[in-house]
Amino acid sequence: MKLTQKLSQSKKTLFSIEILPPLKGRSIQSIFDGIDPLMEFNPAFVDVTYHREEYIYKKREGGYLEKVSIRKRPGTVGICAAIMNKYNVEAVPHIICGGFTKEETENALIDLQFLGIDNVLALRGDSIKTEPAFVPEPGGHSYGLDLVKQISEMNQANYLDEEMKNAAPTNFCIGIAGYPEKHFEAPNMISDLKYLKAKVDAGAEYIVTQMFFDNTKYFDFVDLCRKNGITVPIIPGLKILGGKNQITTLPKVFHIDIPQPFYEELEKCKDDKQIKQVGIEWCIQQSKELVKANVPCLHFYTMGASEATKTVAKAVF
Ligand code: FAD
Repeated sequence: MKLTQKLSQSKKTLFSIEILPPLKGRSIQSIFDGIDPLMEFNPAFVDVTYHREEYIYKKREGGYLEKVSIRKRPGTVGICAAIMNKYNVEAVPHIICGGFTKEETENALIDLQFLGIDNVLALRGDSIKTEPAFVPEPGGHSYGLDLVKQISEMNQANYLDEEMKNAAPTNFCIGIAGYPEKHFEAPNMISDLKYLKAKVDAGAEYIVTQMFFDNTKYFDFVDLCRKNGITVPIIPGLKILGGKNQITTLPKVFHIDIPQPFYEELEKCKDDKQIKQVGIEWCIQQSKELVKANVPCLHFYTMGASEATKTVAKAVF
């Protein structure tokens, strides 16, 4: 079922989660172990992230270095199929531009359609560690917008081969990412919103936001989107801060702020256990306020922290 249908049918704020594929070599059971404790909250959907290859240099005989490509977290599509099969819940794969030609993207989308996957989150993807900025694959897409356009074309039975006759249309509900604190590369918020609107105009039907710890940022973002003609549902993304290192890594990696009152509470903590507790309490307050504002869904970036997510969900739903 299309997520937009689910969202419009529900009068209450829904619950959803994002999970990461396990590291290569670990079993699918680690995914199920993370989802099982959260099934009692009836997730509207489970997002599964996509991770590109990385390059490492391996020392070979004679001292020369060999550049080797590795993918640490493969399996997004297989995990989506396994989740749908086991839990009968909508699984949403993240589809990225980086590392794919348009042809490969088309083939991946055909696989998804055959598997009965109705929703995809279309993203550009970040640059890989060895690149200073995002480099599109030759023959691939440069922006999320181009990917949204390709999926929309397939939804109208327009495949890359223009001579293809009587092709069946796909029927994907397309989600995209939004940034209440602005995407880090955008010169300003209005410019970022211009491209966000272009993606919606091209066929994106809902937005999932980057994590934020200050609800004002989300409310202001939604207001600004509405003023700029973006009318699709905007699902807030939430992360439960879970350790001292995250106080600095989350702002660095995700380009978001830790609000001062939250930071002051975190500073008082003596260890990670206390930080985790403060993180949970902060997220409960955030969630309660968002539910009160009647947001369509609370989307939790679980990042392996199922128990903390369960504690928050119990307090909120
Ligand atoms: P785009 O929409 O392409 O925007 C990127 C930047 O370019 C923005 O600054 C935008 O303003 C600008 N821009 C857009 N279109 C144009 C244009 N036509 N001309 C000029 N400028 C333009 N990454 C992964 O690798 N795997 C994942 O699974 C993943 N999941 C995510 C889930 C969510 C909910 C979010 C918020 C992010 C996720 N990311 C993931 C990270 C995401 O890929 C990065 O934030 C990436 O840098 C931008 O992706 P985008 O789709 O928003 O890009």
